[in-house]
Amino acid sequence: MKIAIPCEIHPHETRISVIPASVDRLVKAGAEVIVESGLGQPVGWPDAAYQEVGATISQDRQKMLSEADVVMRLRKPELDEVKLLKAGAVQISFLDPFNETVLVDAYVEQKVTAISVEMIPRTTRAQKMDALSSQASLAGYAMVILAAERLNRILPMMMTPAGTISPARVFVIGAGVAGLQAIATAKRLGARVDAFDTRPVVKEQVESLGGKFVEIDLGETGQTAGGYAKALTPEQLELQKEGQKKVMAQADIVITTAQLFGRPAPQVISRDMLSVMKPGSVVVDLAVESGGNVEGSVAGEEVCIDDVLIIGLRNMPGHVARNASEMYSANLHNLVLEYWDAETNAFALDLDDDILKGCVITHDGELVNSMIAEHRQKGEG
Ligand code: NAD
Repeated sequence: MKIAIPCEIHPHETRISVIPASVDRLVKAGAEVIVESGLGQPVGWPDAAYQEVGATISQDRQKMLSEADVVMRLRKPELDEVKLLKAGAVQISFLDPFNETVLVDAYVEQKVTAISVEMIPRTTRAQKMDALSSQASLAGYAMVILAAERLNRILPMMMTPAGTISPARVFVIGAGVAGLQAIATAKRLGARVDAFDTRPVVKEQVESLGGKFVEIDLGETGQTAGGYAKALTPEQLELQKEGQKKVMAQADIVITTAQLFGRPAPQVISRDMLSVMKPGSVVVDLAVESGGNVEGSVAGEEVCIDDVLIIGLRNMPGHVARNASEMYSANLHNLVLEYWDAETNAFALDLDDDILKGCVITHDGELVNSMIAEHRQKGEG
């Protein structure tokens, strides 16, 4: 079975999909691995490192894609490249299947089996393949480091002969995987941390990291069966904003990570709320590419509003690209090897398997994913 791994070509991508250690695992399992020349270069692995573990290096991207049985990537493919794939090929990457209707149709047309890593269920068995978590966790870390660097004061308390510096205050909005890592990082740096999330179950997790959970009574919020937040009503969102203002007035850094699965991110900070913040404080918006948590944040930019710096930089895990690539690569090889049939030396698709049922979007000329099909029927996609 031929596994092809092309270079990431998106202009904002600094990460790579597969590192040599994963190729080693795949080759040892019996796969024939073809790597596009230059794949590892952005994070420091030369072609030779892939050759050493048994990969073939290809200079011909089109040929390697058209001959592949499995294609492993990080970003979703270009439409033109889907059309190169042979019928029955398996394509694994982030795919954004709720929004990428045209691409999903192309997989159907091409009879490609498309696996979307963001649809992997958040279950214990799937943890080792969970690319949303591995990348979010690093994003949470990177956001705090970035904010700390931009802030004009230090995070920890410091007692010096010249006086005592009080700890900085960090407010984390959205305490999922990224938010919890942001809390842990800010605590390690010595800040005082407050956090809020609409899912009350995270209160205990926030507290176990040393953060203080901000209580805002929004009435019934709950979460979906998959553990994701439910969208708030406009009235609840107003209550949330009002409740956050007091904490924002004291905060030096605000980190926002609020997301809704399969929908645009909620706006949890409106422009008027920024004016209550101290001059020189910093806000980092992780959701800037999926709708934006902060009114006025701009994807790929740092903007100043009312003397507050709003950081909307894209691809936050890409700021720690080496580790993000290592983690993503491990997620991918764990996924492929979980379903590797040692007798036939092939990736064996089992559409009754819970994990695959969640993340396979198209197969054999059909849209097989019930969540995406339902989304389309409702006219949302
Ligand atoms: P996410 O990226 O979808 O959202 C980030 C956070 O934003 C969530 O905690 C969500 O509740 C919160 N949020 C949404 N709207 C908000 C608002 N208006 N204000 C404040 N916060 C808001 O979430 P995620 O980090 O991907 O985690 C999703 C779920 O998956 C969680 O229940 C998490 O515990 C679970 N999970 C489970 C496993 C596992 O068991 N294997 C692994 C990872 C994540």
